[in-house]
Amino acid sequence: MTGRVLVVDDIPANVKLLEARLGAEYFDVVSALSGEEALAQCLRTMPDIVLLDVMMPGMDGFEVCRRLKADPRTLHIPVVMVTALDQISDRVKGLEAGADDFLTKPVNDTALVTRVKSLVRLKALTDELRLRSASGRDLGLDDGFDPRIFTEVPHGRILLVDDRRSSFERLQASLGGRHTLTVETDPQQALFRVADGDFDLVIVSLGLANFDALRLVSQMRSLERTRMLPILLLAEQEDRTRLLRGLDLGVNDYLVRPIDRQELLARVATQIRRKHYTDRLRDTVQQTMEMAVTDGLTGLHNRRFMTTHMEQTLEQAHRHGRSLSVMIADMDHFKAVNDTYGHDAGDAVLRELAERIRSSIRGADLACRYGGEEFVVIMPDTDLSAAGIVAERIRERIAAEPFRLPDGRLLPRTISIGIGALEGAHDTCETIMKRADGGLYEAKESGRNRVVSRAA
Ligand code: GH3
Ligand code: MG
Ligand code: MG
Repeated sequence: MTGRVLVVDDIPANVKLLEARLGAEYFDVVSALSGEEALAQCLRTMPDIVLLDVMMPGMDGFEVCRRLKADPRTLHIPVVMVTALDQISDRVKGLEAGADDFLTKPVNDTALVTRVKSLVRLKALTDELRLRSASGRDLGLDDGFDPRIFTEVPHGRILLVDDRRSSFERLQASLGGRHTLTVETDPQQALFRVADGDFDLVIVSLGLANFDALRLVSQMRSLERTRMLPILLLAEQEDRTRLLRGLDLGVNDYLVRPIDRQELLARVATQIRRKHYTDRLRDTVQQTMEMAVTDGLTGLHNRRFMTTHMEQTLEQAHRHGRSLSVMIADMDHFKAVNDTYGHDAGDAVLRELAERIRSSIRGADLACRYGGEEFVVIMPDTDLSAAGIVAERIRERIAAEPFRLPDGRLLPRTISIGIGALEGAHDTCETIMKRADGGLYEAKESGRNRVVSRAA
């Protein structure tokens, strides 16, 4: 994963240093030597992440961060504050200004690369979400998407795997107010809990007494259910080698003890955001897929889905020597509903018709809206005479009970139905549909409100 990093520092030597380190990891680095220049660079180059020095003459890092987070064009770009080691109050101020993470000068290489990678991944997710939301708006959909989700502090469900009381109690105090924190002191139990539970983040102490924490990490990364779950490691100063091993295994980020509360809050927030955005993206993909195969008015499958589904059903029927029937139902004189009562009344009648068809068929049958006021039902394992019985039942059900219009009026309606069936090895979807269509035509010609089965 590469990306564009904007490095902001008033001392050119500091810029050069970070440029060199990030360049070695194949990041594309741009730079600015003042706060004002940083804001301009951000708009011009749209970086994926900003590394921001706090102490600068003129506009300082806090002010730059505040402005970036207040501008809808840049609020989604992650900002890492680069602070001096002893300035704890700087971190509090940084968080208040909307910073996403911190690095301490002199900047440690592992920390630099881990933070930048973690935030560039997060940025890729936010970019995708913004794009999806823009396409949705172009299609006239309101997905309730609010770009402020990129700056608000998220609430998450966290599992903490730590067996030292003094340690987990401190973490509980830091995180408990903002997040829902569950503590698990038994690492083996922890694996079951993450697999069963609905967590946004797992924090694992690298210094578990009788268990190799990296084993737990590797197990979580290999289980399907927990593969994508963010993991944050808590390491001791002297744990450097195992920490690097953990990052290799796919840990998303880490903190070194003694744990700084602000860093903890920032990193936890980043990982929970990441989880929430991934979930949201998965939901929109699901929604888009459903929309692509569903008819908006009736909620039945659309013609496109029916075509694919029928091809597959026919192939199965051919292969296993099973029967297959198709019916086309069309409302009689439907145009008159629109002309007399209005288009909305027509829509209501179509919805009701769709519902009556849907509730009259078996689970294995597929009902779809074929076009305007035409509906198709595909019936596997059903021969022509059985299909005739189903169709007759639907026809009666439509004729027997009038349709209710939006204004409460009742309107009697009828439908005509044509049926075609699979009859020979050379039959295709087209030939079967043609038979059903022929049946429908005949039903209309011979007086409507009837079912006509057509054999070859
Ligand atoms: P027939 O008995 O021969 O089927 O007559 P008909 O009036 O039902 O058939 P025709 O095909 O002439 O008219 C179909 C009408 O369906 C015309 C079109 O305006 C209307 N229609 C198609 N789609 C929709 C829709 O989504 N909503 C509404 N309200 N009307 C629709
Ligand atoms: Mg009609
Ligand atoms: Mg028609």
